[in-house]
Amino acid sequence: RPVVAIVGRPNVGKSTIFNRIIGDRLAIVEDKPGITRDRIYGASEWNGKPFSIIDTGGIELDDEEPILKSIRMQAELAIEEADVIVFMCDAKAGVTGSDEEVAGMLYRSGKPVVVAVNKVDNIGRMDNIYEFYNLGFGDPIGVSGSHGTGIGDLLDAITDNLPELAEDNYEDDVIRVALIGRPNVGKSSLVNAILGEERVIVSDIAGTTRDAIDTPFEKDGQKYVLIDTAGMRKRGKVYETTEKYSVMRAMKAIERADVVLVLINGEEGIIEQDKHIAGYAYEAGKASVFVVNKWDVVEKDDKTMHQFEQKIRDHFLFMTYAPVVFLSAKTKQRLHKLLPVVQHVAEQHTKRVQTHLLNDVVSDAIAINPPPTDKGRRLRINYVTQVTVKPPTIVVFVNDPELMHFSYERYLENKIRAAFNFEGTPIRLFTRRKS
Ligand code: GDP
Repeated sequence: RPVVAIVGRPNVGKSTIFNRIIGDRLAIVEDKPGITRDRIYGASEWNGKPFSIIDTGGIELDDEEPILKSIRMQAELAIEEADVIVFMCDAKAGVTGSDEEVAGMLYRSGKPVVVAVNKVDNIGRMDNIYEFYNLGFGDPIGVSGSHGTGIGDLLDAITDNLPELAEDNYEDDVIRVALIGRPNVGKSSLVNAILGEERVIVSDIAGTTRDAIDTPFEKDGQKYVLIDTAGMRKRGKVYETTEKYSVMRAMKAIERADVVLVLINGEEGIIEQDKHIAGYAYEAGKASVFVVNKWDVVEKDDKTMHQFEQKIRDHFLFMTYAPVVFLSAKTKQRLHKLLPVVQHVAEQHTKRVQTHLLNDVVSDAIAINPPPTDKGRRLRINYVTQVTVKPPTIVVFVNDPELMHFSYERYLENKIRAAFNFEGTPIRLFTRRKS
């Protein structure tokens, strides 16, 4: 997916517009326990074109950071990572000095920029937007975050500017693996450890995708590609020191992956940012494995591993399906356990279950625990079928989708998992009307 970034001064309404664009999808995701509400990125689609969107304003700097420095960093990040930049301004404030400064940076980058002028809450304000032509990015788009007007026009402008994406040309039997995690968790070390393993055959053909250097390799007859994000190569840039800036990098790697290795620092434990990043892997429908690194320095007894795993389960309630591997990239202790798990979850991610088997399981589930009723009407499940893989996606045909409850959907998902495993992969369940 191409990436769209929203930049702009604080209080111009970036988050409101962001939420408008993400719309229903966000609401659905927030239903799930364990997903944090302060989202700064999400997936959307318009005119049949999918894209990811990030609110760079949600990436906070230290409180003392002066505003100008913070928006400069936003702009820098957007220029580096985004395919289309939405530059948000405020109709009430007009064009400010810092708007001009950011505009200059964006202009020099040559990236497509769409100017959105927020707080155009009534038609009288429409003439306020004309001064924004001076920024030099063509027609500014008047929007109102609070009223929801102009969002369609903004989305049209965004999708008009999205690039045609070059497809990966890896074959189907290749497992694409991304490593994500906050700085210093050991991503680079793990990449080197994997590639340095015995019997790993590293191909010297470099990857072909625009902004990543991918490393294809083979082990035990299985082909893999390690997706290296720019973050692993370019070190020491100022925004890398702010942890949340790595989120955008991670998003891009996740989009291209089949299996996402969510690295956790065994020495320091789990922090909130780990949850943000893992949540994106879940939303993007990718298979995942938790990798607890630096296991060599953890003081342990026979319960430590179990306790750590329990902590992971408590923190990542929405990803109970993901297995946990403990290892040390540095000493290579337990490293041999990793690739077999990656291979296993990749298989689950592409697994297709025959319709009759699926319906047998669902019939049993219904017999044990009948569907809910609402105002005297009972949900009737007529038919269940898996429509696609990566991730496994199952459609439940019912008499009336409104009668389906989240908790019952969860119940069915659990029964399906219990019967067919699907370890390591999210499952998508959709309810559709069909009598
Ligand atoms: P990245 O920012 O996620 O790519 O992290 P690096 O791979 O650069 O590792 C950060 C630091 O952690 C380096 O000093 C590594 O030597 C150290 N490190 C990485 N893996 C391990 C490990 O398994 N055990 C220990 N003790 N240190 C590690």
